[in-house]
Amino acid sequence: MVTVLDLVANKPRPRHPEKAHRPDQEVLRKPDWIRVKAPVSKGYAETREIVKSHKLVTVCEEAGCPNIGECWEKKHATFMIMGEICTRACAFCNVATGIPTALDADEPNRVAQAVKTMGLSHVVITSVDRDDLEDGGAQHFADVILAIRAAAPTTTIEILTPDFLRKDGARALEIVVAAKPDVFNHNLETVPSNYLTVRPGARYFHSIRLLQRVKELDPSIFTKSGIMVGLGEERHEVLQLMDDLRSADVDFMTIGQYLQPSKKHHPVKKFVTPEEFQSYAIVGKSKGFLLMASSPLTRSSHHAGDDFARLREAREEQLKKTAR
Ligand code: SF4
Repeated sequence: MVTVLDLVANKPRPRHPEKAHRPDQEVLRKPDWIRVKAPVSKGYAETREIVKSHKLVTVCEEAGCPNIGECWEKKHATFMIMGEICTRACAFCNVATGIPTALDADEPNRVAQAVKTMGLSHVVITSVDRDDLEDGGAQHFADVILAIRAAAPTTTIEILTPDFLRKDGARALEIVVAAKPDVFNHNLETVPSNYLTVRPGARYFHSIRLLQRVKELDPSIFTKSGIMVGLGEERHEVLQLMDDLRSADVDFMTIGQYLQPSKKHHPVKKFVTPEEFQSYAIVGKSKGFLLMASSPLTRSSHHAGDDFARLREAREEQLKKTAR
């Protein structure tokens, strides 16, 4: 459980100023099937040291991800670029809200050097929302991709982007796609009926269209999207959302349990059982996704490298079938 106030230089700085006035929400006790590994291993400490020494930010820490012990032990970290302050204020998210700092021109190089030092075969890069920037941070994403390609040419690159809402004039999406990430991920986060309360700064149809446009611009890029469940959605809404993603030709869908970062965040409405997650995975496959990852601790970047290998295999298999 995180706190809503950070203590910086002995001055209380609100991490979530927009949430501070909200009434406390009851925090439900986690069920037995949500058990995480404590972050104490040697590998975890080494990853932490690499992240700190390159002055990088990770979503693993900022979002309070429950998988950090497991992932960092294996040197899997998801880098969060463009600072640690987000211009949006989603009700589920633990990343701080406020006015971000200026872009750091050296960041692409530092991310690339960290990727090289860690010897990653696959890396996931995400960012805060940067509605304050004319292109939403598209060029910075592209610069990071190009810097990694130069420093670690065999590393495959997955990006998890914001929605670039109202950045069409800057051709933001085109700039990112032209840099050729291997996987383009943009999360829907939840079903459309929850958008006003859970993801108020975003628009469901825009996010679907963004994913569809990536495939139109470059069909060789794998597309991916994810949601959290336990936010009050109905099963039939999840199935409809799957159809919407398939209409946009999305290859890979992830579904994980929402966990409440603090008592000021959106409450957990339900702990979805492992059996229900399994059922979503089966339905998703039958709807035509190349790959489904659906379990209580599934997160967008969890096991992303192994999943990328599976995605490639699934596409090859599909191509063989259509050639017959
Ligand atoms: S699942 Fe993703 S965000 Fe969570 S610790 Fe692993 S790499 Fe980081």
